[in-house]
Amino acid sequence: MRQNLVAGNWKMNLTYSEGLALVSEITRLARATAAGAAQPEVVICPPFPLLYGVGEHLPPSNKFHLGAQNCHHKESGAFTGEVSARVLASVGCEYVILGHSERRQYFREDDELLGQKLKAALAAGLKPIFCVGESLDTREADETFDFIGRQLTDGLFHLSNQEFDRVTIAYEPIWAIGTGRTATSAQAQEVHAFIRERIARAYDAKAALNTTILYGGSANAQNARELFSQPDVDGGLIGGASLKAADFMAIVQSF
Ligand code: 13P
Repeated sequence: MRQNLVAGNWKMNLTYSEGLALVSEITRLARATAAGAAQPEVVICPPFPLLYGVGEHLPPSNKFHLGAQNCHHKESGAFTGEVSARVLASVGCEYVILGHSERRQYFREDDELLGQKLKAALAAGLKPIFCVGESLDTREADETFDFIGRQLTDGLFHLSNQEFDRVTIAYEPIWAIGTGRTATSAQAQEVHAFIRERIARAYDAKAALNTTILYGGSANAQNARELFSQPDVDGGLIGGASLKAADFMAIVQSF
């Protein structure tokens, strides 16, 4: 069965010492949590230079994992300034976010490149968190489902069943990212159900049932419980609210 999961995407925030302070506060709060309470999987995704240090300070629980925000699509070689999936795995990463709208928009990552990144991540043993989501223009033109359907077909559904098994999907409407304008739980549920139905068509009912689908976009400690109560919302990919330990841990405890 699918897992509930909350991932914190720190984006290009926090210095090394700030990152260590945040993860030690998260660890303190995680210790204080009632033992035996149902806990989701938690993934912390700091900037590259913080990965190893943050990984060393994660709470000592098998529920906490390290993730990267991106990887290069080649295994190694002369790509100055880039980081391979293999190197990420070697510093303790288990997950990698791919296809975030900020990467698609600012770094021109398209479906073809993302396809190669997915393959590279899977080959290195990482679990991709693959992001999809429409712009405000697309939503207002009533093209959300066509658009997300295409992102899934062109970006993701080329994977084999075995490869797809290791993928988490994040629905992040671009108009909700960093804007304080969260999708309503009904809007999120509607798209999540659509994504699950497309997985069933592309793979099978079991794959659809087993895929974790996260919501991202101005999720916070106040709205997480309502969002996570939707039948097809299995957790969140959290930006701004992942930078404060108390807010992030409140979200983690919102199931
Ligand atoms: P915010 O939670 O800051 O809106 O960011 C969402 C996001 O992009 C997570 O990847």
